[in-house]
Amino acid sequence: MAKLKKTKIVIGNWKMNPSSPKEAEVLFKTLIKNKVNKSKVDVVICPPSIYLERLYKISKKIPLGLQNVYFGGEGASTGEISAKMAENVGASYVIVGHSERRAMGETNEIINKKIKTLLYEGPLPILCVGEKVRDEKHEHFVVVKNQLEESLSGITKSSLHKVIIAYEPVWAIGNTALREARPDEFHEIMIFIRKVLSDKFGVEAGREVKIIYGGSVNPKNALGFLTEGEADGFLVGRDSLDAKKFLQIIEIAGSVK
Ligand code: PEP
Repeated sequence: MAKLKKTKIVIGNWKMNPSSPKEAEVLFKTLIKNKVNKSKVDVVICPPSIYLERLYKISKKIPLGLQNVYFGGEGASTGEISAKMAENVGASYVIVGHSERRAMGETNEIINKKIKTLLYEGPLPILCVGEKVRDEKHEHFVVVKNQLEESLSGITKSSLHKVIIAYEPVWAIGNTALREARPDEFHEIMIFIRKVLSDKFGVEAGREVKIIYGGSVNPKNALGFLTEGEADGFLVGRDSLDAKKFLQIIEIAGSVK
């Protein structure tokens, strides 16, 4: 089972990229060459599942994660990958509840089953939460609270520290982002998330859990989320495919206590 040792964590979500295993290897080897996990940051790469074992064989220096997993156990489920299979090919983490998967029908109930299965089998869950829009009524607090409560229903207090929470406002993600989120917006919701988790799991568990930020993170805005926003790290999409930018983000994360 993966163990987070360092203060900040930077996770690269490669999504459905790159289009060939050769390109994936080149990108991964560039990160290895730059000794990313020798820095003060825990770095995790989540490649397409089809490349994971190949990268795992190249190096164990960077922990790997899947971008999705089946919600149940072993058996007849065409096209799915079980948590046990993920564990057996070298995945230390699995992203669950990403907005792009929620858009395909993944509900909080399914996410909850995935988290329970993962906590039983080994790879640690990275739970994505975040609202689609923000309005004057501040409905986003209700959305995030429901996502947390329903996705983490039935999880024990002592397991919460194994779950990484990634706050990713959908409006700030990807090429279609309305705008970048501000560090103060992250800071406010980070405190809110800790409060929701403290109410459900106790103050200590709520304080200890890692809450990272995702949504158009780049070398220019990263520092603000870490200092003013007090993020425990990042989930990075596009800029994790650009080795130079990703290395810069890791360096920035390593410069902050
Ligand atoms: C994401 O989709 O998880 C993400 C953070 O993407 P990007 O960094 O490209 O906005």
